[in-house]
Formats: sequence, C-alpha cells, structure tokens
Amino acid sequence: MRVIVLGAGIVGISTAWYLLEEGHEVTVVDRQPDAALETSFANGAQISVSFCEPWASAGAPLKVLKWLARDDSPLLFRPRLDPQQWLWGLRFLAQCHDAAFERNVRQLVALGRYSHESLQELVQRTGIEYQRLQRGILHFFSTPKDFEEGAAAAELMRKYGVDRRVLSREDVLKVEPALAAFGSHIAGGTYTPTDESGDARVFTQQLARRCAQRGARFLYEHDILGIEAGGGEVLGVRVAERRSGRPHTLVADAYVAALGSYTAPLLRPLGVGLAIYPAKGYSATLRLKHPERASVVSLLDDSRKIAISRLGEFVRIAGTAELAGYDTGLDTPTARVRCQALLARYEQLFPGVADLSEPHFWAGLRPSTPSNIPYIGRTRVGRLWVNAGHGTLGWTHGAGSGRALAALMSGQRPALDFGFYGFPTAAASARPWRRAAA
Ligand SMILES: Cc1cc2nc3c(=O)[nH]c(=O)nc-3n(C[C@H](O)[C@H](O)[C@H](O)COP(=O)(O)OP(=O)(O)OC[C@H]3O[C@@H](n4cnc5c(N)ncnc54)[C@H](O)[C@@H]3O)c2cc1C
Repeated sequence: MRVIVLGAGIVGISTAWYLLEEGHEVTVVDRQPDAALETSFANGAQISVSFCEPWASAGAPLKVLKWLARDDSPLLFRPRLDPQQWLWGLRFLAQCHDAAFERNVRQLVALGRYSHESLQELVQRTGIEYQRLQRGILHFFSTPKDFEEGAAAAELMRKYGVDRRVLSREDVLKVEPALAAFGSHIAGGTYTPTDESGDARVFTQQLARRCAQRGARFLYEHDILGIEAGGGEVLGVRVAERRSGRPHTLVADAYVAALGSYTAPLLRPLGVGLAIYPAKGYSATLRLKHPERASVVSLLDDSRKIAISRLGEFVRIAGTAELAGYDTGLDTPTARVRCQALLARYEQLFPGVADLSEPHFWAGLRPSTPSNIPYIGRTRVGRLWVNAGHGTLGWTHGAGSGRALAALMSGQRPALDFGFYGFPTAAASARPWRRAAA
C-alpha cells in the first residue's frame, strides 16, 4: 500500500518506520526542513511509562481555578474567544472524576509499556544514540501533603503492574545524591528504576534518516494546505512547496494525520472532530559547568511540575502548561516569567552547577486531549488514519503509537488493552475489527 504520513514529529516518524516494517511504501510530508523541529524538538526527554497520570482528576478543577491568576502556575488556562478552547475545557471537566481517571491511567500505562518495549527493540536494532540514560525517573515532593498524594498515585500505578516505589527523603538522596543541597526541603519521593530519558529530537531525526535509507520519500518544506475528499474518502492531500509556493496534490492508498496540535484544525473541515488543543510548554537547556555535581537520574519536581533530564554535558529543564492558543513565542510577559522560573528553580536545586548565562529557551505545543489519551486509529473518512493527541507523553508513547497504527493499517490487532479510535474495544465486541462509528 502507498501511504502518505503527514507530519515528521516523533509520532509521524515512528509511524513511517513501522509502516516500512510492514512492507508499505511511505512518503512523509512536513513543513520544516528536517524531522522533529516542532513539539518533538526540546521536550523534557523523559520516557515516562509510570508517571503518566492524566491532568484530569477529581481535584484538578479546583487547582486550575486557584492557578488562574498566576503567570508562573504549572497549568494556566487563559480564556480566549475560541469555541474550540471552551469545548475542550468542558470535555476536560467531564473527565475530572475517579472512574475516568482510573480508566485513563489503565490505557496510558498499557500504551506506555507497549511503547517502551517497542522503543527498546528499535534502539537495539538500529543502534541509534540519543543521550539515552537508563537510570529511572525520580519524582520528589516538597510538602508532606503532596508526598502523601504522590504515594497514593504510586499505589494506583502499582495496581497496573508498574514498579513505582515510595521513598523516604534519605532514600531519595541515595537514588540521586546530587539533590543533597536541596535535601532538607524534600518530603519524600517516588521512583521507577525502569523509566528512562534521552533526546527526542536526536532520536527522531536519526530514525527519519534510517527510514530514508529504507526507501521512504521525504517531502520537507511542504505546507499541507488541506485534505481533498469525495464519496466518503480522501482523494488527495493539497500541499505547497515552501520555496516555490506552487500547490499540488499528492495521492496515495492511505493517509496518516500525525500533525500534533495541528491535526484537529486540518481534519475539522472533513467532519472529523478531534478534541486536541495545544498546551504550550517551555524548556531551558543549559550547559553544565560542573557535570560531576549534576543529576543523572531524570527528575520530576512535583511542586513546579517540571522535568529535569541530563543530556550529556547539558541539562534540560522543561514543563508548565498554558492553554492559550497556537502561539509558540518566547517574547511575551508570561513566557519570560515562565522561562526565568525554570532557571531560578534549577539554581535553587543545584546551586552553581549549570551555566545560566546562555540558556537555550524553547516553547512547544503539546497536542493535548481532555483525557490525555491519544487518537490512534481510523477516522470516518475512508483511507484517512490518525495518530495524534499525545499531549505530555508523545516521546514516551511515540514508538508504540507508530507500531500500533501500522499494525492496524495492516489488518492486525496490536496486543494491548487500549481504545483505538474508530475501533470497538475488545470487550465491547466479539468481532474486534468490525468497523465502528468514528
Ligand atoms: C515542554 C514540553 C515538555 C515535554 N516533555 C515530554 C517528556 O518528557 N516526555 C514525553 O513523553 N513527552 C514530552 N512532551 C510531549 C511531546 O514532546 C509531544 O507529545 C510530542 O513531541 C508530540 O509529537 P508529534 O509528532 O505528535 O507532534 P510534532 O512533533 O509537533 O510533529 C508534528 C509535525 O507536523 C508538522 N506540521 C504541522 N502542521 C503542518 C502543516 N500544515 N503542514 C506541514 N507540516 C505540518 C510540524 O512541522 C511537525 O513536524 C513535552 C512537550 C512539551 C511542550
């Protein structure tokens, strides 16, 4: 089958790779000059199978309300005259109860495990190097109350077979001695030794090179203008080459939309309504002045909701979320506050360890769904498939999402308990691959 993959982020490139594995002919289209230059560029670097709690929980609405007025809050909702934003907000509220939380966690853990296994196999097979560290993820808490909540979340994860351990302050410092200077402010932590970290951009670009070596065609610097449909199926994709501006139509047997936050607006005119809204996040990458004193275990600082990952001689500090539209600018008052807050926190945790004079700031748009569950599957429009909406976990879930979609497109059933879009759940149907309403 000839397949066009729209989008060359971690999700699109992973999909391309596994489609090649299934013997399909693949073309990848992206507006950027290389893979992973948008949201997959400078994220928190965590392969976080076990720290995957969705934002939507019973306590979330109150927290979001409290944070409304704070420019440096972990999750900031900036109301706009945008019906998609309000619709997303209402759907988010509908997920804020215990049953939905538990259902979503179950699926996120299933996808995370499948994806981790897929990534490990892929790395072993390709030998891609991307500053990978297999030292686990350590989540630390600054107040006893937060620690108590974290310990409860760890218990829920253990129910799904994830080895997330609860640690005293002393044990936190044993796992990551570099936190010693901040030790007296730590109430406790949770730790999963099997989680990992590594550079998503480097990995994605390397995987894209290997896809090209295996025969995939790459149309970079091509804007996707729209999808043409007729008779209930896709007829082609309208693109324009950036340099010439000349529009033309690309035709294939099947199409995969893996455009991150831009997937929803592209598919809306076709009557495919995906609840994906951008959640802007920031990162700062700093050169280490004293690598020997820097952390090697990937960290999650609960009070600020930031991830800290070691990438060789650099450290990446990433986090916070702002639901405020598609702007990725760094030059707004809120952006400046948020970027500076990342530096200030790092310095507080690891005084004098990194060079703060030349930070590399970045902002990206997490393609967020109200439940944190991505759309992986087929749409109601013939020939059109989707792999998008990975929110906070696109790097973690990229390999598995690509592999699962390639399997679905090849008529196979991926071996995981997950609600694939456009397919009935295994429990809901004795004939799992009967076509469902999208
Ligand atoms: C601050 C921050 C920290 C994060 N930390 C982590 C983490 O630690 N672990 C984790 O698992 N995840 C993390 N994430 C989430 C992760 O980065 C995303 O979920 C993931 O990158 C999404 O990948 P994607 O391929 O879906 O989208 P993208 O990487 O955005 O890819 C979409 C592609 O589509 C292209 N495109 C879009 N529209 C068009 C168009 N009209 N024409 C042509 N091309 C188009 C873009 O150029 C882009 O290359 C983080 C995100 C942020 C913002």
